[in-house]
Amino acid sequence: MPRIDSTVTHLSSSLSTLGEFGLISRITAGVSPGGSVITGIGDDAAVTSLSAGMQLLTSTDMLLEDVHFRRAWHDPYRLGRKSLGVSISDIAAMGGIPRWALLSLAIPSDLPLDFIDEFMRGFLAMASENQVFLVGGDTCSSRSGLAVSVTIMGEQYPDLIVRRAGAMPDDDIWVTGTLGDAALGLKLAEDAGFCPAPPAEKSLQNQSPPNTHCSPDRAGGGMQSLLSRLLDPNPQVLAALTLAEAGLVTAMIDVSDGILADYGHIAEQSGVGGRILLEDIPFSHSFHSCTASFPAIPYHLALSGGEDYELCFTADRSNREKIADCMEKCGIAMTRIGIVTRFPGVTVVNTDGTPYNSRAEGFNHFR
Ligand SMILES: [Mg+2]
Repeated sequence: MPRIDSTVTHLSSSLSTLGEFGLISRITAGVSPGGSVITGIGDDAAVTSLSAGMQLLTSTDMLLEDVHFRRAWHDPYRLGRKSLGVSISDIAAMGGIPRWALLSLAIPSDLPLDFIDEFMRGFLAMASENQVFLVGGDTCSSRSGLAVSVTIMGEQYPDLIVRRAGAMPDDDIWVTGTLGDAALGLKLAEDAGFCPAPPAEKSLQNQSPPNTHCSPDRAGGGMQSLLSRLLDPNPQVLAALTLAEAGLVTAMIDVSDGILADYGHIAEQSGVGGRILLEDIPFSHSFHSCTASFPAIPYHLALSGGEDYELCFTADRSNREKIADCMEKCGIAMTRIGIVTRFPGVTVVNTDGTPYNSRAEGFNHFR
């Protein structure tokens, strides 16, 4: 890529018939050249142009079948969207502008060509919505499931890049959107033995879930809206860029492993602690309606559930009004959920001030 290097030697007959270069042509058919791409797909390496004065931000993510997704659950269109969306979320979390992506696929022999077509349609839709250009990648065969690797590059002026280190004692701790929807959707679907339906065409532009009544027993709209948070997360690029460019935040991270784990990274790298108030954690209407019959609110899904892809950031208290203005400008809810403390350790407290006994600390792949 830019050559898509290929070792496609054990693919299915349809893929074999298509051949290495046919597959690459099919994968890259919808790719359009962008203004900042000088040489894109087709050469040995991509040539891109950084904007004057900006620095390069780079991040990479893997999505493995039966580790990060299940093919029976995840329709290829939304898997394509998510594969790029989670990487865009990492650039946004640094206050960066997402620009270019590399996509590598290890493809099992039983994967239908239609799956690849739909995956690419989703991937390129997410790219287009965020002005990201696919500039290269790799393909090979896989003997144990589909593997997707995305490398994303972005850029930003040095003084606008926001790191995890930077939170100061007495700063406010904020989150965008709502927490726990993806984890609740997964739990309800697993409990019901339910397989998500492919999305209707009009719902493919996934944003916040609608406030529908939830009927988990019948796999109704409420569960589908929770599941759309899991299957098709929406990276908070606009909110992140607005906050970063206004110089309002001291530290930022995207919430991929649960707020406890992810704020924990900010606290650790900033050399501070934190106090999170349970009653201030924002939940969606779908979350509330789907848990109305539960004996207690399952706070642990928001604290440790993961896959929210919202932003957690810290900011000086004097910026509260400016952040409210920012929220209005972006149309994205931002909620204060706690305070940065001088001493290390992150605690969660109940309404009456007593400590909440959290059951987990976030998703950890190696536990
Ligand atoms: Mg991240």
